[in-house]
Amino acid sequence: MSQSGSTNNTGEPAVIPRSRHPVSRANISPNALKVLYRLKDAGYQGHLVGGGVRDLLLGREPKDFDIATDAHPEDVRRLFRNCRLIGRRFRLAHVLFGREVIEVATFRARQESRDSAARHVDEDGRIVRDNVYGTLEEDAFRRDFTVNALYYNITDFSVIDYAGGVDDLNAGVLRLIGDPETRFREDPVRMLRAVRFVTKLGFRIHPDTERHITELAGLLADIPPARLFDEMLKLFMGGYALANFEALRHYNLFGQLFPLTERSLAHEQEHFPLTLISHGMDNTDKRIAADKPVTPAFLFAVFLWQPVRERAAQLEAGGQHPAQAMQHAGSQIIAEQVKVMSLPKRFSLPMREIWMLQLRLANKGGRRSLRVLAHPRFRAAYDFLLLRAQAGEEPEALGQWWTDFQEQNPQQREQEDSPTRPKTRRRRRPRRRATGGGA
Ligand code: ATP
Ligand code: MG
Repeated sequence: MSQSGSTNNTGEPAVIPRSRHPVSRANISPNALKVLYRLKDAGYQGHLVGGGVRDLLLGREPKDFDIATDAHPEDVRRLFRNCRLIGRRFRLAHVLFGREVIEVATFRARQESRDSAARHVDEDGRIVRDNVYGTLEEDAFRRDFTVNALYYNITDFSVIDYAGGVDDLNAGVLRLIGDPETRFREDPVRMLRAVRFVTKLGFRIHPDTERHITELAGLLADIPPARLFDEMLKLFMGGYALANFEALRHYNLFGQLFPLTERSLAHEQEHFPLTLISHGMDNTDKRIAADKPVTPAFLFAVFLWQPVRERAAQLEAGGQHPAQAMQHAGSQIIAEQVKVMSLPKRFSLPMREIWMLQLRLANKGGRRSLRVLAHPRFRAAYDFLLLRAQAGEEPEALGQWWTDFQEQNPQQREQEDSPTRPKTRRRRRPRRRATGGGA
């Protein structure tokens, strides 16, 4: 898009008419359009906002469509039978169309503009309560990045730009709205969002925004583990795992998510475990590009493998049997990791099986190997073994032996193409913002 959307200095937004921007209704989900029109017909404002507008302006396919309105959640519910209200901290309406969810949020304001009773900031400057409705303008300024604060207005199909988002979009710049330090302190998760957007969009972070990230990274320690888990899924299961891993390390953010892994990386030997993780991320991206299933169990298995190995070695040195040491090490490392980031049992259990199977895969030959082949987690464990071999931790010949062995015993092989079946991925779509994506 080439048009300039620069805001003037009067506080009025730039309004880019339909003839001067490429957002077309043909590219908007029909369900989102239905919601927008029904809001409009009932006399409310209806705007597409956030990633939907941003991605359409960039000529990309949006992941989902979010709507902003002056209707209150209860009003929205009255308009749509298929609607449920969610969120305690801030109420949102979800309008359901089969598997598609259109999220409808009432305009809301940032702190200074309203009475302080409705808005609370803790001693780090973090927003702890936020339940005031606002105007369209206020809604624009409480959003995180300028390119995420563009509104597509259903009444005249124009794009409304209060924060200079169109110029930043054209320049490929990701910039926080307002004072960057304040905005990161309000919600430190914005640092993770910054990384996610620059890798996905191929943007650069504006220097004023960028220079605060490393110094404020530690504030992520206060974010609830469940919210970090949701963010981790978006970072590593969206097709840009390798780029995000590298960018997170660059900004000192990775250690906030995986402190034990970061410690192992600090004393890596001959590039292990860095190579293991990089290959693991690259494989994940390739699977996603090929529309193959990926599971958080495998990702966590990769990230936590080196801490588990080190712990198991210590326990073995203390006299434990290898299998016992691996079991105990797994429990201990998981217990430490979940203090920072949640890891639901449905992922930690298969992850542990992947680890335990590594011991059995090392002992090839005989009837035992046939039993390993029939194990429901064999495929994921085998993929994990190949990764270890690729990273130089195990001889390539061991991986090759299991590759050949499967070909010789096709009847034993599990049908499913693990790491897990697609249904896992579908069922466990992160509930967007259920744990507080918005601030
Ligand atoms: P994606 O393509 O990942 O969906 P998105 O920009 O739509 O990107 P969402 O998490 O869906 O991201 O959020 C929708 C919009 O809500 C954002 O574009 C932004 O305007 C606003 N938003 C989300 N999280 C925050 C936050 N932590 N602080 C301020 N605004 C936020
Ligand atoms: Mg979105």
